[in-house]
Formats: sequence, structure tokens, C-alpha cells
Amino acid sequence: MGLVVQKFGGTSVADPDRMRRVARHVADTRAGGDGVVVVVSAMGKATDNLLGLARQVSANPSGRELDMLLTTGERISSALLCMALLDLGCDAVSFTGSQVGIITDTSHTKAKILEIKGDRVREAIAQGKVAVVAGFQGVSTAKEVTTLGRGGSDTTAVALAAALRADSCEIYTDVTGVFSADPRMVPRARKLPWLSFDEMLEMAGAGSKVLALRSVEFARNHGVPIHVRSSFTWEPGTWVSGDEGRRAMEEPIISGVVHDVGESKMTLLGVPDRPGVSALLFESLAHANVNVDMIVQNTSVDGTTDISFTLPAGDVAVAQPILERVGAEVGAKGVDTDAQIAKLSLVGAGMKTSPGVAARMFRVLADHGVNIEMISTSTIRISVVVERSMLDTAIVALHAAFGLDADSDYSAPLPERT
Ligand code: ADP
Ligand code: ASP
Ligand code: MG
Repeated sequence: MGLVVQKFGGTSVADPDRMRRVARHVADTRAGGDGVVVVVSAMGKATDNLLGLARQVSANPSGRELDMLLTTGERISSALLCMALLDLGCDAVSFTGSQVGIITDTSHTKAKILEIKGDRVREAIAQGKVAVVAGFQGVSTAKEVTTLGRGGSDTTAVALAAALRADSCEIYTDVTGVFSADPRMVPRARKLPWLSFDEMLEMAGAGSKVLALRSVEFARNHGVPIHVRSSFTWEPGTWVSGDEGRRAMEEPIISGVVHDVGESKMTLLGVPDRPGVSALLFESLAHANVNVDMIVQNTSVDGTTDISFTLPAGDVAVAQPILERVGAEVGAKGVDTDAQIAKLSLVGAGMKTSPGVAARMFRVLADHGVNIEMISTSTIRISVVVERSMLDTAIVALHAAFGLDADSDYSAPLPERT
């Protein structure tokens, strides 16, 4: 008997009807003979709604209490899905992250999984039951309930698949796979039949929401093949796996264009240009668990420079007082925050051996009047920060210029999410 982990995102379980459809699919898979572990997200916009409630009650909600609140979303889904499965005659049992023994560190709202015990899931499988696990949550080494960061149910699913040595992890969502760009932004985006772990890591790291970054890290580190597919059409989607799946001679220079509007840019203005300033600033930010992404330091003209960096928009409130304190300490002229930015990245394994990709990217952006504020690269990724208002123009232009456009617009239904 094989074992598969099936994860269903928020849109896939948004209402009772969708919940029953998902139950039917899970029951059919189980009836086919394989063991099934299901991971569910909160229904529809439930997590956003809970966050909204928290902000109405408190300007700066406690991380512990936020986690207590947000984990209820996934708990509701897991119980409801089990009820629907039981009605179909499919034996099923729901678990919270804590009950499954998903042990995390103590970092509330962005905890990392340290270990999965999984005893109760193994027992349920051995009894022929479907185990339905509430995604996005665990219990910390300090015995507190934690969440894994937005999109964290993907991580629950892949980490469980690794711990249980499942044959694969199916991520069901509201698009039919991983595309050459977000099909909601680029109607001519193309579905990619296959991606390597490394390419998917870069896409997720560049901010593509379709898979959470940590889920891809788990998949690569433990060799878990991921199948991203639709719970609306159920058609085969995109496989993300190791290099063995790659067909010879098929290393596209660019696989996809990724955008991210979840970051802000902060600048420490007029900093004295002397050793130790960057160290002090970024040590202080690291100490506060702020995830700094791109960094740019201007060249010094009059003995002072500006240090700019990007960070998740949600971390600005934590970073602001740190910049003010460090700024005062080193004699900086001020702090500036810009939320109206977007990060755009080109990702492709063939970039390693193809010179001139960056130059071409910058030329296309220039030709469309898009100013580049920051640049960063890896061996298979080039990222730029641009003004948010230029994002639509820039992403469509890059997608076309790098030959990624499909012949016709994306045709599968794109479920509403607002
Ligand atoms: P779920 O709730 O199922 O986890 P997410 O919203 O987290 O769904 O991820 C799916 C969404 O990711 C899609 O609706 C799509 O708009 C977006 N997306 C961004 N980039 C891509 C891409 N390259 N390919 C497919 N979807 C993408
Ligand atoms: N419900 C959580 C979120 O909205 C986790 C997830 O859906 O993966 O981020
Ligand atoms: Mg998601």
C-alpha cells in the first residue's frame, strides 16, 4: 500500500459544498487502496478575518495570543472535513498540529518545525483511517501553540510527507499547477509540467505564493516529490522533484517571472560611512527575528551613505524602532519607509550558462519606463525592486520578452478570492 499526503488550501475548502467535494476526492483515493493523510487550511479568508479581528481589538497583538486565535481556522476545517468523510463511509479522524506532535521552535507567528513525532497519524493509518491534520500549526518546545507563517499549511503537508515517508505530497489549490507567472497577473502564463526543487526554491524564495518556501526546503532536503494541482478541475498539474525527472536538453533559460508585493523598503538616511554601522544595524534586526531580504548601500559622497533594505511588510512595525535607535546611535539623518514597492524576479536553471539575461531584463524594463530601485542575483535568479504602480506593466513585458507567453489566455476558471 502506498501513502499519499493531500493538502487542500483555503479556496479548496471555502464552503460546505467545496468541503464535500474534497471529501469525495479523498474518499476515492482511500478507496483506491492507498493510505491518505490530509492537511487542510482554514476556510477561504478565515485567517485574514481572524487577523482583522485581532487588529480591531489590539494595535499590537501578542504573538502567543495571535497563534491561539489563528490555529482555530485550520481546526474548524479539519473537523468539518472529517464529518464529511464519515458521511461518505470513509473512516477518518482529525488532529491538531499539537496532537500530531509537530514540534516547533518558540518563534510565535513564524515558527519553524524542528521535529514531527507523528505517532497518532501512524496509528490512524494502521487502523485504515484517513488522518486529517490541521495545517499551519505546531506546539513549541515551550509547550505553546505556534503557527508556521502565512501559507504554512504547505509546510505542514510536506514535512508530514517527509516524516511518514509518503510517496508524494499533493498540494491542491485554485490553479492547475505552477505557471511561468501568476496567471492572475499574466493571462498568457503557461503551465509548467515539471520544475526542479532548486527552481521551485528560487521561485518560492522570490515570493511566489503558490508554495511556501519552507515546504520546498523540506521537499528538497528529504526528496519528497510535490504535485501541485487543482481541486477545481482535478487535472494533472506540475511536478516538483529532484533532477532525475529532468528530460535531457530541456533546461529553459527562464522558467518563470515571479512577483512579490509583500515587502517594504526601509532606508537609514545619511549614515556616517565608517566600519561597523551595517553590522550594528543588521545584527539588531536579526536579533529581533526580522527577515531582511535585499540590501543596497549607496556610495559615499560627503562621508555619509544611505542604507536601504527590503523586509516583509509585516515586520516594519518591529524594524521601525530599531532603525530609529540605531540611527540615533550612529548619527544618521533619518529613517524612510516605502511600502509601495514590488519585487520582480526571473528564475531559470539555464541562466547559469547563458550570459546577458540581466542586461536583457534591464533593457526591457527601461524600454517600458520602469525604474529599477534595487537588484540582487543568485546563480539561477535575478530580482529587481520597482515601484508598485509599474508592476503590471513590468511583469507582462518581461513574460513576453523572454518568450514565455502561451498562444492563448489562461482558460481554466480562476476562483474569486475576495
Ligand atoms: P492556497 O490557498 O491553495 O494555498 P495560495 O493562494 O497560497 O493558495 O496559492 C495559489 C495562488 O498562487 C494562485 O491562486 C495564484 O494566484 C498564485 N500564484 C502566484 N504565482 C504563481 C505561479 N507561478 N503559478 C501558479 N500560481 C501562482
Ligand atoms: N491559513 C493560513 C494562511 O492563510 C495557512 C495556509 O493557508 O497555508 O496563511
Ligand atoms: Mg498557500
